[in-house]
Amino acid sequence: MKIVNLEVIPVTVPMEAPLRWSMGIETGTTRGIIRITTDDGVIGIGETYGGDGVEHAIETAKPFVLGLDPLETGVLQHRLGVFRVSYETSVPAIVRAGIEMACLDAAGKALGRPVYSLLGGKIRDRVETAAYLFYRYRSKNGRIGGEDSAKAMVDRAHELVEKHGFRSLKLKGGVLTPDEEFETIRLLREHFPHSPLRWDPNAAWSVETGIRIGRRLLRDGIDLQYLEDPTWNLEGMSQVRKAVEIPLATNMCLISYDQLAPGIRMRSVDVVLSDVHYWGGFRENQRLIAVCDAFQIGVGMHSDRELGISTAAMIHLAASSPSLVYAIDSHYHDQVDDIISQPFVYQQGAFTVPDGPGLGVEVDWDKVAKYHGLFKQEGQVNEFYDRNRPGWVPALPIF
Ligand code: MG
Repeated sequence: MKIVNLEVIPVTVPMEAPLRWSMGIETGTTRGIIRITTDDGVIGIGETYGGDGVEHAIETAKPFVLGLDPLETGVLQHRLGVFRVSYETSVPAIVRAGIEMACLDAAGKALGRPVYSLLGGKIRDRVETAAYLFYRYRSKNGRIGGEDSAKAMVDRAHELVEKHGFRSLKLKGGVLTPDEEFETIRLLREHFPHSPLRWDPNAAWSVETGIRIGRRLLRDGIDLQYLEDPTWNLEGMSQVRKAVEIPLATNMCLISYDQLAPGIRMRSVDVVLSDVHYWGGFRENQRLIAVCDAFQIGVGMHSDRELGISTAAMIHLAASSPSLVYAIDSHYHDQVDDIISQPFVYQQGAFTVPDGPGLGVEVDWDKVAKYHGLFKQEGQVNEFYDRNRPGWVPALPIF
């Protein structure tokens, strides 16, 4: 079986209401739907970030991918990753990940096996997901969103927990002042005393603010599962961690192999959030998790507005990774639609692992055409801006 074609289709799917974060707002998600075809006529699907850069990267990757057996993902990663030090020929990790995803989907379909089976088998049948809580602007029609206070966020948390059955809660911070967000965390803790609780200010705080807020959490007995990226870079995280006995997690300062050794030496983080895209795909995440296991670093999973194909990939990876014990992140409940024919449904705060061949999801190509139209109309979603603050440019730390 050999790959004879590789293509990508960009799509944009809106959010129910704009999600706020430290560096702007997320009004939707732009993704690249990757499709490979084999000489046997098998179609494999993958997903990556969207936009013009990705289309260029796919064209760059094409000569190295055509002719490969979809099962030979080690060769694929070597071919595409070996040039990672060169600006001219490198194929970014996020694109390598999407191509590898499509390869294993095709291989799984050809073999009649789910992707988790190709990753070593599933350890669990369901993958728990955290309730991702964002401060939101109101939707255009004014009916959805508008959370800008502790009380409003607690109401939102109750709504999501009742609707989807989430056990873990994650507050996206870095939006209001640290003291206002502290009140949100305090109230969430009060309303959900037994829920694992996380707070992610996306490096909006200085080291001093991180230490001040951390000490206040400890003083007030507010138990966090972890504090995620309170401040910027391995050094800043290390300084906060030395000063406060709260586990720190990251998807910002330890996101590549180059950063693993210094991050471990400096004891900058307790939990590394894996990512099916950032780290380059299934194989690379399995290597990351092996290193984390060796150094007793916890493993969770980051989300960046994935649609159903990448969500399936996250579920297969999490299901086949024994030490990935933290509820994974997902934006799924904030997106208005999906491009797979049977969108995922949360059951008691978890996704059920698909058992069908490949990724176990089918693409709805009419939906792809619809949201490709939206991409052409509106272009790539820019998350590094804030419509309510014209001319504002994100810079960290904010507080
Ligand atoms: Mg984060």
